[in-house]
Order: sequence, then C-alpha cells, then structure tokens
Amino acid sequence: MSSARLTIDLTALADNWRALDAKTGVETAAVVKADAYGLGVEPAAKALAGAGARTFFVAVAEEGAAVRRAVGPGPMIGVFSGHMQGDTELLRDHDLVPMLNSGEQLLRHFEALPDHRFGIQLDSGMNRLGIEPVDWIALRDIALGKKPVLIMSHLACADEPDHRMNQRQLRNFKEITDGIQVPRSLAATGGLLLGPEYHFDLCRPGVGLYGGLPFAEARPVITVDLPVIQVRDVAAGETVGYGNTWTARRASRIATVSAGYADGLQRAIGGGIDAFANGQPCPMVGRVSMDLITVDVTDVQDIPDSLRILNGHQTVDDLAEAAGTIGYEILTSLGSRYTRDYVA
Ligand SMILES: *Cc1c(COP(=O)(O)O)cnc(C)c1O
Repeated sequence: MSSARLTIDLTALADNWRALDAKTGVETAAVVKADAYGLGVEPAAKALAGAGARTFFVAVAEEGAAVRRAVGPGPMIGVFSGHMQGDTELLRDHDLVPMLNSGEQLLRHFEALPDHRFGIQLDSGMNRLGIEPVDWIALRDIALGKKPVLIMSHLACADEPDHRMNQRQLRNFKEITDGIQVPRSLAATGGLLLGPEYHFDLCRPGVGLYGGLPFAEARPVITVDLPVIQVRDVAAGETVGYGNTWTARRASRIATVSAGYADGLQRAIGGGIDAFANGQPCPMVGRVSMDLITVDVTDVQDIPDSLRILNGHQTVDDLAEAAGTIGYEILTSLGSRYTRDYVA
C-alpha cells in the first residue's frame, strides 16, 4: 500500500473541545464546516457530541445534512451562510438553523419556513457576512418578533489579542445587541481565548478543536505518515528533483516518499521542514512534486517503511509557516487520497 496515512486522534479532538469548554462559563459549540476542517465530519461530529457538544455550525446547508446524519436528532446545527435560494428543503428536512445575513434572507426564511428556527448574523466590522448595523435598525423589530434563537457576529482579528479591532468589534456588537433577550455569540477560537468579555452565551471554536493555532495548548489531533517508495544513493554534486533545486554536498541517501502537493503538502513548503524516521528528523530536500517528496535520510541507521511529516513536534502550523499560509489551509487541503485511520 503506497498511499499516505492520515491518523486522526478522536480522543485528542474531544479533549480539545473539553479544554476550550473549561475556559468559559458558557456553552461551547463546535464548528465542523469544510468536512470538519478536512478531518472527516461524521467521525469528528460524533466524537464532539460524545464529549458534550450540543451545538454545531457548518458553512453551508449541504454540510449540515451530513452533521445531522452523524449526531442524530437533538443537537442544534447552525448554518453560517443563512437561508440561500434552494436551501429550504435541506433546512427543513435536516432541521438546520440558518444564521440569516440580510433582509433578503429574512424575507425568504419567513416566507418559506415561517415556523422554522433561525438565528441572526450581524456585521460588527468584518464586512464579510451579516446584517449591517444601519440595516439592523430597520429590520430589528421584524426579526426579533419572530424570535431568533441566536444573535451572532464574527471577529476579524481575534488571533491577534492586542489588535484594536477586537475592542472595536466588541463595542459595536454590544451597541447593536445590548438589551435584546436572545442568546448571543461573538467568539470563535481566537475570541474565546481573549477572555470572558468576548464569551457572551455561546462560543464557536473550530480550528482549536483540530489542534491548530491560536489554541497553543491544543493536543495535536493528526499524524501523517508517508510510505517510503524508494531509497537511493547520490554522489556529492548530484541534484535531486524538479528544477535541480537541491545539490548533494556529500554522498547522500535520499528517500522518496508517497505524498505531494496533491495531498495538501504544498509546493511552497520550503526549508526547515523535516520528515521523521522513528522520531529522527530528516530534512525534506528538492521540490515537492504532485505525488512525491524527497528526504535526506543519510544519517538514519535503519530507514523505516514510512516517514512521519506531521506529529506532535512538527504541526500543521509549522507546515503552514513554511508555506507562507495558516494551519487552517493546511488542514483543509489534506484531501481525499490519504488512507484515514480514526483512533479513539
Ligand atoms: C469558521 C468560523 C468559526 C470558527 O473559527 P475558528 O477560527 O476556526 O475557531 C466561527 N464562526 C464563524 C462565523 C466562522 O466562519
């Protein structure tokens, strides 16, 4: 078997949810959009429900159907994109709760599903999703008359605790929601870590559950093992890989492992990243190909059957930094080619 192996530790996932939950006195939801950040929404949602999560969020209604299958009736499943044209049956059939983002969505929802639960998403400054404060003034009474189950907004800079935008959005959110007798939510992972002012009635962490920054105390959730397909000796002065970007400075042994940028191990991942041979770090050398990566294993005594690229020491955020991106993008890019192992 030559496909790379992605191992997902569902106990670590559940522990991360519990650890975040323990940091607040309010309810903790679980954001499982994008197939639970690429890790598999059915097993992830089941494990999170097992840990105690009673509210889930997805980006679009189609994703909500899979969460409902996983967790069964009962838990609330919120949809950030709200009620789009064509969503009505999905929302109704799977009991999904749209977070309505505009006057148009409010109208659509009240017409199509007058007795169906909904939430409201307000824009507190990010200018991405949600009803603008000026429009909220006009829509507020109609919306509140229909009894939303949640009012939420989203922070643009919560991963930077000292960013002035956090305070500004907090102030805006309070201004447009204070006094309303509806549960409120502002914080994702970053906001939860900013402290109790940001917690309101519900926090909505995503990336921290999956072991990513800004939740630095997270337990690592995934390991990735790349089978060694071939090992060769190269003489000093020989080059390795596309573009001849790496030249051996000594007689070297090169292991070619099975995985590449088509598996989310981005071509932009530059120097400083190792693949581990039974815990011993070995530098990746040459370009990342679509399906293959070359690794300098000259100093390894016994070359194992596979090299580990993601582990508790080298994390998705390390890979992200090396590629000039964020852990979220590494996680959601891992793709479908891995053999996936879910361990409890
Ligand atoms: C993705 C998302 C979250 C979760 O964010 P993390 O940074 O992954 O914790 C919460 N709320 C909204 C609106 C989102 O889009």
